Amino acid sequence: MADVRTFQFFASNEWHDPADGGYFDSENPATGEIWARVPDCRQADIDRAVGAAKAAYYDGPWGRLLPAERGRVLRRIGDVISRYAERLGAIETRDNGKLPGGITPSLQQGGWLQDSWNYYGGMCDKFEGRLIPAEAPNIHNYLKWEPFGVVSMILPWNSPIGTLIWKLAPCLAAGNTVVMKPSEQASCSTLELMDVLAEADLPPGVLNVVTGFGATAGGPLVDHPDVRMVSFTGGTAGGRAVAATAARQVKPLTMELGGKSPQIVLPDADLDLAVNGVAAGIFPAGGQSCISGSRLLVHQSIIGEFLDRLVEVAKKARVGAPDDPATQIGPMANRPHYEAVLDRICKAEAAGHKLLLDGREQCRETGYYIGPTIFGAVPTGSDLAQNEVFGPVVSAEVWDDEEEVIEKANDTIYGLAAGIWSRDVTRAMRMADRVEAGTVYINNYFNAAAQSPVGGFKQSGYGRENGWEGMQCYMQTKSVWLATDPHQPDPFG
Ligand code: NDP
Repeated sequence: MADVRTFQFFASNEWHDPADGGYFDSENPATGEIWARVPDCRQADIDRAVGAAKAAYYDGPWGRLLPAERGRVLRRIGDVISRYAERLGAIETRDNGKLPGGITPSLQQGGWLQDSWNYYGGMCDKFEGRLIPAEAPNIHNYLKWEPFGVVSMILPWNSPIGTLIWKLAPCLAAGNTVVMKPSEQASCSTLELMDVLAEADLPPGVLNVVTGFGATAGGPLVDHPDVRMVSFTGGTAGGRAVAATAARQVKPLTMELGGKSPQIVLPDADLDLAVNGVAAGIFPAGGQSCISGSRLLVHQSIIGEFLDRLVEVAKKARVGAPDDPATQIGPMANRPHYEAVLDRICKAEAAGHKLLLDGREQCRETGYYIGPTIFGAVPTGSDLAQNEVFGPVVSAEVWDDEEEVIEKANDTIYGLAAGIWSRDVTRAMRMADRVEAGTVYINNYFNAAAQSPVGGFKQSGYGRENGWEGMQCYMQTKSVWLATDPHQPDPFG
């Protein structure tokens, strides 16, 4: 146990042991070794964290800061995070096997994680209310935006820091305080983020982190009477449970849930572009991205050639340990998920779907590795075509005419993202209008920016992250009626 690091939870800018002294282990999915012990927070710990967030909101100073002052704090946070990107990335890699390139280069090259802080730092003092020309004499009716107060954030394991920053920047910009609950499968990068942010000089209680399990930490946090809004990212089943808990106190929610995103390939597609784009849209991160394009819909005139080429591209992927610079696809993020993905592959094979590339050949003695897996000729109604695998598994369906492919593309409970590959941009735009998805990519995939809202249609969720809409979700309007010539006759005279 010498190398095992023990974490504490974070409330009021201080580190705490859990009240009942319980911890759980965090496993490195690249090796299967235990590398950290994490607090198993329960009600008393949740009360402490929510109490800290409540005090910071109501007693100040955070709840009383002017918007421009909040903006300066947000930009400071962005600077600190970018300085410590490598350290945060290293922890996330140990926790969920994500390649170090997952967070570090994206910060250094594109700076997109810092972009969120700059973007929302600038937006703090630009969320203007309005004067409403209400039909009432001698009245000024104005509308202002206000924060909710204490917001809870429930996070998944696939990309905790990225998920968190998309939530935190608009939420703090809006003036709320926060209690976060990362997944028990990947808690440590969120705790490390709190350590790093000591340099940003945030007032105590603005950011708080409890760790633990969905039922014993997530549920009580969502249900806490002082939590006024819940921001959830996770699977659709988890989302339903959280929404049911939140409904007890009619709490507003944002829900960023799962997907089964279609990649539609038209007969006139640039095949090199489309094959590379489809492969890049599913296999990196081992398919553990919410918008992974895991349902391939290829026109019957090109499906044979397309799948042959896709198999050739996918075979080249180097699956391996995240600390090997040659690695292109790391392990599945944790053992239960690894076993679940293998089970789905076995079941799809047993159902008679044609296996064109079998990622199980990349499994190893230690660590949770699965290579790219491609199924051909999968019926639209099958389990594989309908339900998220969240692994490096793509299933191909064939289509003949436009009506049919739109129907197939929309024929799941999900609506997170879609890709369309065609040289005929007018046709692609027409199809984009008819696909039920919160994000549609034409001849590209996986782009995202702080300025551009993302979110789901149907059971992929509601609310948006990024853009103006992302901040709106963390605010509520208040309508104020001001009499300019106060006069109230006796109503009963
Ligand atoms: P889960 O839904 O299993 O868990 C998400 C979080 O919810 C975890 O912190 C979990 O805790 C917690 N939780 C589970 N049940 C409850 C409950 N009843 N009350 C309160 N909290 C609860 O998702 P995964 O962690 O498995 O993440 C993978 C999923 O996330 C995929 O479906 C993926 O598509 C989706 N996702 C969506 C994104 C989007 O933007 N749309 C982005 C990234 C992922 P614990 O696990 O500790 O028990």
